[in-house]
Amino acid sequence: MATAFYSTNNRQHVQPLKEAVLRSLPADRGLYMPESIRPLPDSFWETWRDLSLGELGFQVTKHLLDGAIPDEELKPLVLEAINFPAPLHPLKDGLSVLELFHGPTLAFKDFGARFMARLMGHLTKDDGRELTVLVATSGDTGGAVASAFHKVPGTRVIILYPQGGVSALQEKQLTTLGDNITALEVTGTFDDCQRLVKAAFADRELSERLNLTSANSINISRLIPQSFYYFEAARQLPEGQLPTFVVPSGNFGNLTAGLLAQRLGLPIAQFVAATNANDVVPRYLLNGQYEPRPSVATISNAMDVGAPSNFARMVDLFARPAQPEAPTLTEADALEDMSAQIQGLAYTDQVTRSAIREVWDKHRYALCPHTAVAYLAAKDREGNNPNKQEHQILLATAHPSKFLPTMEEELGQGITPVPERLACLAEREKVAESMKPSEEDFLAWLQK
Ligand SMILES: *Cc1c(COP(=O)(O)O)cnc(C)c1O
Repeated sequence: MATAFYSTNNRQHVQPLKEAVLRSLPADRGLYMPESIRPLPDSFWETWRDLSLGELGFQVTKHLLDGAIPDEELKPLVLEAINFPAPLHPLKDGLSVLELFHGPTLAFKDFGARFMARLMGHLTKDDGRELTVLVATSGDTGGAVASAFHKVPGTRVIILYPQGGVSALQEKQLTTLGDNITALEVTGTFDDCQRLVKAAFADRELSERLNLTSANSINISRLIPQSFYYFEAARQLPEGQLPTFVVPSGNFGNLTAGLLAQRLGLPIAQFVAATNANDVVPRYLLNGQYEPRPSVATISNAMDVGAPSNFARMVDLFARPAQPEAPTLTEADALEDMSAQIQGLAYTDQVTRSAIREVWDKHRYALCPHTAVAYLAAKDREGNNPNKQEHQILLATAHPSKFLPTMEEELGQGITPVPERLACLAEREKVAESMKPSEEDFLAWLQK
């Protein structure tokens, strides 16, 4: 039977795939999770090492959704979404980098956004009307979402971004696609953008008529495809080696997807949650106190999160009983398991900068500031882990050329070559409509 999705705040509140994906958030403010997560069948493990990344993705999704989408429709959907590789780059004995930045916007968010766009397109294709996706962005998410939905049939995307509030490159990523993507440059702050989006959803009649949905980062459909590359990385290791995944983390979607892969049966030695100064989760893993707080700005800015949105999903995964009929674990037991499985480590900007230089000097390999945080964690673990079977894998979440100023400061030179998809943006012309930060104006604009 097709998998249903429950709310982490109420396991009795279940919805089918379509509602979970199009609503994004349950009304009780929990997060959607698959009701059943069973290990992949023996038939999968017989061939998994020979499968391509796209094939792995198809097999994993098919198993997880359990018939919610027919195979002959699901397979092309996954293959089209995941149409770029995730190679493992060896740095030295027992340490490799999984490059997740070969998608169109050069960051791992392409995995989630591309899959979500195609899934939403598929789920609404028989509704006979266009789906309108509203997104407020302060930077990278908007670019990944715009690129992911570009030319997806039956969808239209409206992106709101604060004037002067995103980098020049990010602005180009939002404003140069055209077709079904419209950029609104709001003469206000990111909070104003979010307020306008909320106002549109609050207008029931408008929201229903335009078939509005949000491409929120906590959408369950963004999590599923992020599990694929954990299999892809493990597949590339010599047989007998067990991966430890070192994950540079902010909202913890990436790490949660790794936990999902583990629940699907992938053998994993350990997870490492590597953060910048925003260390709410590493602290929780040490002392059991979960204390969200306002974020502080760092050079690994995509990880500047003070209240990680996927934390409830991590707790949910550890509280799940091994057998479906058994009661859920107490919070204390779940925490004990979580602390055993995930090591938390946090680093300052200063040491992150020195890590960028170190890896360049030793290996002539450029790490983006986020990935450099993971490198520091891997290095700190080396000494106390004599297990030769273990292979540490750093998740490289973005291409270093997306963070040129920092890279130039540390390396004394730029990144060459800058990937063509980034370099060509400079010449493209920006097309955006200006919008006052007024709910009334925005709703009137949507009406027409
Ligand atoms: C979003 C992002 C992260 C953090 O990922 P989470 O899933 O939010 O933990 C890390 N690095 C880069 C480059 C990102 O864009």
